[in-house]
Amino acid sequence: MLQTRLIAPADNAHQAPLLIKRLLLSGIRYEKTREIVYRDQLRYSYATLNERVARLANVLSEAGVKAGDTVAVMDWDSHRYLECMFAIPMIGAVLHTINIRLSADQILYTMNHAEDKFVLVNSEFVPLYKGIESQLTTVEKTILLTDAAEKTADLAGLVGEYENLLAAASPRYDFADFDENSVATTFYTTGTTGNPKGVYFSHRQLVLHTMAEASVLGSLDSIRLLGTNDVYMPITPMFHVHAWGIPYVATMLGIKQVYPGRYEPEMLCRLIKEEKVTFSHCVPTILQMVLAAPGAQGHDFGGLKMIIGGSALNRSLYEVAKARGIQLTAAYGMSETCPLISCAHINDELMAGSEDERTTYRIKAGVPVPLVEAAIMAADGTLLPADGESQGELVLRAPWLTQGYFREPEKGAELWEHGWLHTGDVATIDDFGFIDIRDRIKDVIKTGGEWISSLELEDLISRHPAVREVAVVGVVDPQWGERPFALLVLRDGQSLDAKGLKEHLKPFVDQGSINKWAIPSQIALVTEVPKTSVGKLDKKRIRLDIVQWQAAGSPFLSTV
Ligand code: AMP
Repeated sequence: MLQTRLIAPADNAHQAPLLIKRLLLSGIRYEKTREIVYRDQLRYSYATLNERVARLANVLSEAGVKAGDTVAVMDWDSHRYLECMFAIPMIGAVLHTINIRLSADQILYTMNHAEDKFVLVNSEFVPLYKGIESQLTTVEKTILLTDAAEKTADLAGLVGEYENLLAAASPRYDFADFDENSVATTFYTTGTTGNPKGVYFSHRQLVLHTMAEASVLGSLDSIRLLGTNDVYMPITPMFHVHAWGIPYVATMLGIKQVYPGRYEPEMLCRLIKEEKVTFSHCVPTILQMVLAAPGAQGHDFGGLKMIIGGSALNRSLYEVAKARGIQLTAAYGMSETCPLISCAHINDELMAGSEDERTTYRIKAGVPVPLVEAAIMAADGTLLPADGESQGELVLRAPWLTQGYFREPEKGAELWEHGWLHTGDVATIDDFGFIDIRDRIKDVIKTGGEWISSLELEDLISRHPAVREVAVVGVVDPQWGERPFALLVLRDGQSLDAKGLKEHLKPFVDQGSINKWAIPSQIALVTEVPKTSVGKLDKKRIRLDIVQWQAAGSPFLSTV
């Protein structure tokens, strides 16, 4: 460590800790009357939001929640979730955002592992909760969340129904200061194997992440995604990395927020139109689903700006969205990284180039945002040059990365090997600073000694006009080690077979974009591609399905 001159504070100088409450208190200064909207059911002002957060803090404290306790939430995206994102950490407790799309066994595992003491359960999840209730080892009390007229449920330790409890509580709460390094949130991420792993973030980390995210979304002229006059609605579940942290940004800036509850394409389109939503974000498969929904046909999305992250944004989706009036910008992050790491930025040099080149950059993983360090690492731990050519694992450093996995020190040590956070993604970084994700390490296909990126192949296949959705995985092959296999969903009334796909890909081989081994010799035409709990392509499940189809000689396989 360098011997620097450290600040010696005066005895009476205030040390302002970076606490989440500061974000809430900032929004109301800007806009007291701006609205928080929940579906077509509820709307209230920022002044009311502040009161409701205080009421919730009183409810929780009176129910016995203490600093350091873990309070879990099982809800769709709602105003209640937003209130929990503030009230729970603001009383010094830890918010556990439960991934309600996991299996009941996995939810049970995460709740016991996180040592949840209090749970807020949406009535729609009561049957699921009842199925695991007797096996929960640490839960003492529950609160019912519901939109229905029935305000009670058969839950052990039920304190009451959320709205009734809030109505009866005081709208004032004196939120104390405490150490900014206190854990504020936790949630679980599922890998390809083993149990879900718990990541966790402190107040300091969330505040710094919010500041960086706000500056990137609001200040980069080439993308200008979120300003104070925008209207924000997430289409990323709030349990998936705090809806990418954007509710914290929106609240800090006093931006109008719309929460859609359970994702129903018709409701999403209606809210976009009626509430005049201008900014949102989601993973590519969810956007595809929304655009293809019957209720979205003929819908004018003009003026909507969206961040697409969580998986690669391919050119075809970018163009389809553009034709419907939506400006997409790619960003990259992961559960372990809070999540924002990088976001597209079109600099002066790219501005001077062609529109086609700009699109190529808008769909890459982007440039690391302020305070993030990104590098490419070889398997032996040496750092490789950022020359756009050298491929290796993307490794990261930033003030807001999880410091480990909850109660799993060995996995945490692996995550942080060589002092960098390991993403498990193969990438390059080019001269413009752009990260290009080539593949997940586990998804790269090795055929006849050649490496093939499943993401690149998906991008090229998606450009075929008949293709609505595509997933590419490697399947074991006795001769080549692995061969690429493509799973396709076709657009209505269209047809394509393995031979037609080969003809589509041949020009990309001729121009050197891919090698000839990258052309799948077998494809499957399906009506739906399996998705993970957060809406991404479920490649683990796809590989298993293919093995079964091949064994059974399934009729939807097509071979050249
Ligand atoms: P999760 O922890 O579920 O959010 O998943 C994180 C993973 O999603 C990353 O490690 C990447 O493999 C993938 N991912 C996220 N953003 C992008 C992107 N812009 N391009 C390609 N892959 C991405």
